[in-house]
Amino acid sequence: MDSNILNNLQLTKVAVSKIDTFDFENVKFGAKFTDHMLTCAYKNGEWGALEIKPYAPITLDPSARVFHYGQAIFEGMKAYKQDNNDIWLFRPDENFHRFNKSAIRLAMPTIDETRFIGGLKELIKVEKEWVRKGLGNSLYIRPFMIATESGVIASPSSEFLFCILLSPAKSYYSGKIKVQIADYYSRAANGGIGAAKAAGNYSAQFYPTKLAQEAGYNQVIWTDSTHTHLEESGTMNVFFRINDTLYTAPTSDRILDGVTRKSLIALAEHLGYQVKIEPVKVEAIIQAAKEGSLKEIFGAGTAAVVNQIEGFAYKDDYYELPNIADEDAYALQLKNALTKLQNKLTDDPFNWTV
Ligand code: PMP
Repeated sequence: MDSNILNNLQLTKVAVSKIDTFDFENVKFGAKFTDHMLTCAYKNGEWGALEIKPYAPITLDPSARVFHYGQAIFEGMKAYKQDNNDIWLFRPDENFHRFNKSAIRLAMPTIDETRFIGGLKELIKVEKEWVRKGLGNSLYIRPFMIATESGVIASPSSEFLFCILLSPAKSYYSGKIKVQIADYYSRAANGGIGAAKAAGNYSAQFYPTKLAQEAGYNQVIWTDSTHTHLEESGTMNVFFRINDTLYTAPTSDRILDGVTRKSLIALAEHLGYQVKIEPVKVEAIIQAAKEGSLKEIFGAGTAAVVNQIEGFAYKDDYYELPNIADEDAYALQLKNALTKLQNKLTDDPFNWTV
């Protein structure tokens, strides 16, 4: 960490905090934000000073490249508060590295660890009251970068804004979800931007997901562009349990390298489960569903941690998964183990918490 950058951080505090008007019991994920945000501008080939200032709208030229060419990336991570008031981040280095990987793919400048992780820690110190104790409470962290240079010219911007927003979050039981396996639309292609957390990856999913929702499904499980292999879901990687083995697709330039996914793989192995990281064929999953060996499917991501799937549609057929008892569900065992570790309620043999 470069202490000069942190010493030069400009802090402007709000006159009055809005924390007293915030309803921590009824939190809608991602809807409301804390008092302050962190910003940093990139110009003339370098990042400027970090600023922490009141959360407020930003003003951009209408021709700023982000509006026309979608040069925008983001991250999603969480902070947790222990009973003794210590605040913990979960594997922030993973999000930092993934952010820079996305930046490179979108022809954006990378950012240094001091501005990303050091700046985040300073912002959380200012907002520490917004992190609530108790299993299920967390502070969702949204770092992002946008292209701010003006001009409707389809070439990379030379000016950017890096920003971090914080939003209190509460875990809720959303119930099991029904998914549709993609057999026409694609989220990503070989050589594309699927592995980047690029804004456009999400807008490209809205329309097919809307069609799936109109047909009665919550989410789409994306396949590769030949619709042969199962890849990932909207904002989650996906695990399949056949008999007692967990399968998940290897990451590639089509799949986001999820922090929850890699943590669950390590935890599952630590708990003695058999895990196989290999391409998962749609055909194989349908065969397993027909034979009764497909026991569970679940999604894994920062927002929901784990989301159990009750059944899936493929073309004209719907396949219901067996109703497995909570204590036998790998999804819930793993969710429990991971959330306890994130909340410092158990040891962290992996040193993931910071
Ligand atoms: N896939 C996609 C497309 C996502 O947006 C996310 C959420 N970041 C994930 C998977 C899960 O990643 P993580 O566990 O790092 O949140």
